[in-house]
Amino acid sequence: MGTGPEPAIASLATEDERVAPPEDFVADAHVRDADVLRRADEDWQGWGAEQAGNLRWLAPWQRVLDWTPPHAQWFVGGQLNVADNCLDRHVEAGHGEQVAFHWEGEPGDARALTYAELRDEVARCANALRALGVRRGDRVNIYLPMVPELPVAMLACARIGAIHSVVFAGFSAQSLVDRIEDAGSRGLITADGSYRKGRVVPLKEAADEAMARTDVVDTCLVVRRTGEPVAMQEGRDHWYHDLVPTQSADCPPEPMDAEDVLFILYTSGTTGKPKGITHTTGGYLTQVAATARLVFDLKPDHDVYWCAADIGWVTGHSYIVYGPLANRVTSLLYEGAPDHPAPDRLWEMIARHRATILYTAPTAIRSFMRAGPEHPAAHDLSSLRLLGTVGEPINPEAWRWYHRHIGGGRCPIVDTWWQTETGAIMITPLPGLTHTKPGAAQQPFPGIKPVVVDNEGTPVEPGQGGYLTLQRPWPGMLRTIWGDDQRYRDTYWSRFGEEVYFAGDGAKLDADGDIWLLGRVDEVMNVSGHRISTTEVESALVDHPSVAEAAVAGRADALTGQAIVAFVTLAHDAQERSDLVDELRAHVADRIGKLARPAEVHLAPDLPKTRSGKIMRRLLTDIAEGRELGDVTTLANPDAVRELAERARQEATSRSSGNSE
Ligand code: ATP
Ligand code: MG
Repeated sequence: MGTGPEPAIASLATEDERVAPPEDFVADAHVRDADVLRRADEDWQGWGAEQAGNLRWLAPWQRVLDWTPPHAQWFVGGQLNVADNCLDRHVEAGHGEQVAFHWEGEPGDARALTYAELRDEVARCANALRALGVRRGDRVNIYLPMVPELPVAMLACARIGAIHSVVFAGFSAQSLVDRIEDAGSRGLITADGSYRKGRVVPLKEAADEAMARTDVVDTCLVVRRTGEPVAMQEGRDHWYHDLVPTQSADCPPEPMDAEDVLFILYTSGTTGKPKGITHTTGGYLTQVAATARLVFDLKPDHDVYWCAADIGWVTGHSYIVYGPLANRVTSLLYEGAPDHPAPDRLWEMIARHRATILYTAPTAIRSFMRAGPEHPAAHDLSSLRLLGTVGEPINPEAWRWYHRHIGGGRCPIVDTWWQTETGAIMITPLPGLTHTKPGAAQQPFPGIKPVVVDNEGTPVEPGQGGYLTLQRPWPGMLRTIWGDDQRYRDTYWSRFGEEVYFAGDGAKLDADGDIWLLGRVDEVMNVSGHRISTTEVESALVDHPSVAEAAVAGRADALTGQAIVAFVTLAHDAQERSDLVDELRAHVADRIGKLARPAEVHLAPDLPKTRSGKIMRRLLTDIAEGRELGDVTTLANPDAVRELAERARQEATSRSSGNSE
């Protein structure tokens, strides 16, 4: 033991499968020459400065980088404003009439905001915040559904130099309290409610509950969305529609230092207590603008871009709000559930808006697979030219389905690895250059230096697995954990030394040196002394035609150390039959090797997921080991998980009583 999370198995036999970018895509692509990667690697600071140069600076920087590990400062002495870069400069360049967001509410109401309208709305909202006493450096919590006021509120904070902390609207009152108190936010921006799967969610009620539990907030701005009656506390609560429209649209953007904090965002908490990831102004905007442009190959005059995430996650911060707006692209913004009122909601919207780029998550893709290819097939998706995925390793099977049924076999797929901490995409194909491999994020973004290392920190050879590290500072990196710099050092910079960022994910290099993500290091199982990645077993299961989604966990086993327990949901057209479990076990053994054959396979109605759609394997381990489930209310689907635990318990009981006979 003691080596990295090296898989016991070479891999699923997909490394040789490559998809070349179509010629017409390459002809127009921003990057089609591998020389870009070489050049950025040789002079990574110069490359960073070149990207920063695409922004509008109010004062030039004196030094590109000050690096006192593990603390970096980028573009030292430079000044800029993020809202100015995302809005004003485009309006001044004559693009005020271009649509920034085509917004659509879940009930079907819609609104288009041009760059000029968005600029003015942001300026008025910024003046309203000032009128409420919010000052530069103050923290403002934003607890809003996916309505236009959400990006407006973020950009209004950025305009006056207030620090925003967005809390996903699906989170509970207590999660909001924790984040308000940790950040010390005096301002809160929320709404009366939101729509989710046709139901009204009473958001202000949750905000009231939160404000009753903490006295940190002294001012609250409330957007009217659903029109349901809500309580308004005199002096503290103000209606957005009373205050904002009467403000002046004249609000000069505050010149911010490159290293001033732009926002705090708490990680989703898959692995423990959420961390207040802190991002600054100049480096962050540089990195999100550059990655959005080059990874999504954005063409501001032609593209209709859609990142179908929620702004409450970092994906939405970087690739719904800041990256696309910095590049002056036209985006779709959608409030509700992807399957409401029908499973083809997304496809219908893509066809109607002639969307060209779609960025979503493996969990969503697997649920589309489960609903069946007839839904996308019923719509004209020929406008799409590029697809992206983020959030979890994508199973090769889901990748191929996405490529075929959504991308019509014609769209390159960018599988983008990054984290709340990294701020922007770090490992990804470049769509006009990379010959993609289903299931692999593959290559560093220009200037980034990912290195897969073993337990001692030594780089592994092609064909081997280990820990993923980043061995160079990058402009968009987190600067600290809000209020807890020691935790910042301990979490990311202690495992392999102060100059090596430890991402917490396992990865492997294939024979070509391409990077495959294996999931979190703490999710690698140890079976009879062999380290087996949960991701690979899951991929093998999803590869079976009857399986829609799979999650795998290890449970303690006296004989083998750990035994593999799998939970699977079935495809929409699959039948539950008695020999299926044995067939699935045999399928894994055939695909990976006998060692990886699950000891148990449970058919599940649903898998435990966070609200951001990630499988909670920690909980599955509890279920597999028959422990009491702790608090499951922060999950997306607590009832399904309780049912799953109950089923597993019954199966275990019948198994052990069977054994004793
Ligand atoms: P917490 O850190 O609080 O547990 P989290 O890690 O789920 O939460 P995020 O920062 O949103 O919060 O997610 C980043 C993680 O998501 C990565 O560390 C990685 O495990 C996974 N991930 C993201 N993109 C990919 C990808 N393309 N391939 C594989 N894994 C990915
Ligand atoms: Mg994380």
